[in-house]
Amino acid sequence: MRAKTLRFRMMLLFTTVVGVLLAASYIAFWALLAHEIPSQLNRQLLETARPLIADIVTEPNAQDVNRLDIPGEFFEVLDSSGRVLQRSANLTTSIDLNGLSSATSRPTFGIATIGNTQSVRVALIPFPQGSQSRVLVVAIPTVGTNRVLASFGRVALFLFPLSLLITAAVSALYVGKSLAPVTALTRHAAWMAKRVTSRQGFWTPLPTSTPHDELGRLAETFNHLLQAVDSAVRQLRQFVTDASHELRTPLAVLHGETQLLLSRPRGADEYRKTLQVFDDEFKKLTRIVEGLFTLSMADAGQLHLACEPLYLNEVLEEACALVSLRARTKDVAIVRELNQDIAYSGDEAFLHQLFLIFLDNAIKYSPDSTRVQVSVAQLKGTIRVRFEDQGIGIAPEHLAFIFERFYRAATSSGGEVHGGGLGLAIAQAIARAQGGSIECESTLGAGSVFTVVLPITPAGSDIESKPEQKLMLG
Ligand code: ADP
Repeated sequence: MRAKTLRFRMMLLFTTVVGVLLAASYIAFWALLAHEIPSQLNRQLLETARPLIADIVTEPNAQDVNRLDIPGEFFEVLDSSGRVLQRSANLTTSIDLNGLSSATSRPTFGIATIGNTQSVRVALIPFPQGSQSRVLVVAIPTVGTNRVLASFGRVALFLFPLSLLITAAVSALYVGKSLAPVTALTRHAAWMAKRVTSRQGFWTPLPTSTPHDELGRLAETFNHLLQAVDSAVRQLRQFVTDASHELRTPLAVLHGETQLLLSRPRGADEYRKTLQVFDDEFKKLTRIVEGLFTLSMADAGQLHLACEPLYLNEVLEEACALVSLRARTKDVAIVRELNQDIAYSGDEAFLHQLFLIFLDNAIKYSPDSTRVQVSVAQLKGTIRVRFEDQGIGIAPEHLAFIFERFYRAATSSGGEVHGGGLGLAIAQAIARAQGGSIECESTLGAGSVFTVVLPITPAGSDIESKPEQKLMLG
């Protein structure tokens, strides 16, 4: 409907513009003709008069004019008072000069009539004949020139509406053809709008009939935009599904334990055991909720990171100490190469959390009696913190997804080692907020290497003097 309105408006615009231009051209051309034809006739009258005047001047007594009988050309010789002295043979009456004065010193032109009916273009040309002044009147009928102007008017009157009609038809056709891709885009977009709530996603490529023109580029841009929106919507949906699933499991355990506990009276020992289970599940819930909160803050660019001077090797030592008990229970040796002081400016709490995630995973996904190597070094303007384990490794097809929320790669034995599923996603959010990134290399069954790459901040070389400041990171 809209395309039709636009089409009509464009057609109207084209037709109006062409109409105005045509009308202006016709009027200008008509005015030119109306001016040029009399001028041409005036020249012709002068040309005709010149030899005749020469004859009359050389032979003053000859009565040649009286004998002249040229079709379509009329002559009179007047004296200075306007009295007719000679008249060409084809004139039965005098030429009615319609007020044109014969007492003229220069050639005068105008319209006169012969016998009250025939309109003629007339030239009054004064010339001396001896001591007398005479005027030669030369006239030619205007009927031919009037006919030219009338014919032009008729042709213009016929051509003008015809041109408008053709313009309207061509512009309607052309605009319709040009707008066809827009109509197709609109139809496709309306179809996608209906599918927004579909679980399979709403986006399918918009039609791009001519990829290199403006409309093609517009469709391509919208394709990129809508594809990104579609994938964001899908991710969001998946995220909500996964989050509710993750929250549902500990809640189900809590509910089951409560039902069991309430089914009959219990002893103090049983209550203590159940409370222990409650505590574990509450910890899980808290971890998930806190993780989700951190991620949503990071998404909104609201992750406030302190910028405080610290030594990264010290933060790493503390994180290693925190997981050492768990490592010992699996006989996993944590080998530290942290002797070199690496000054850095960042948020200690978040960096601590970041390192714990990698240490936690390294222990969690390693078999008993293996080694986890932790090192930190400066390299090419960056600080590289490396966690290398001899664990189960990650299959190449999973590597691209392990940083996604709630994504879990299948273990080599086909079983699953359960964690919150948010660790690496949070790690990536923190690393990015610090201006860094995470690299991962892994061989299935042999182990993994996670490297946190942090930019060396200017404060790194000026650890003592740097005051603490709060950063708002997007
Ligand atoms: P989870 O709570 O499941 O550990 P993460 O986000 O920390 O969640 O890790 C995502 C997935 O990446 C894990 O489920 C695991 O399959 C894989 N992964 C992470 N770290 C390691 C590692 N050091 N060795 C093997 N696999 C790992």
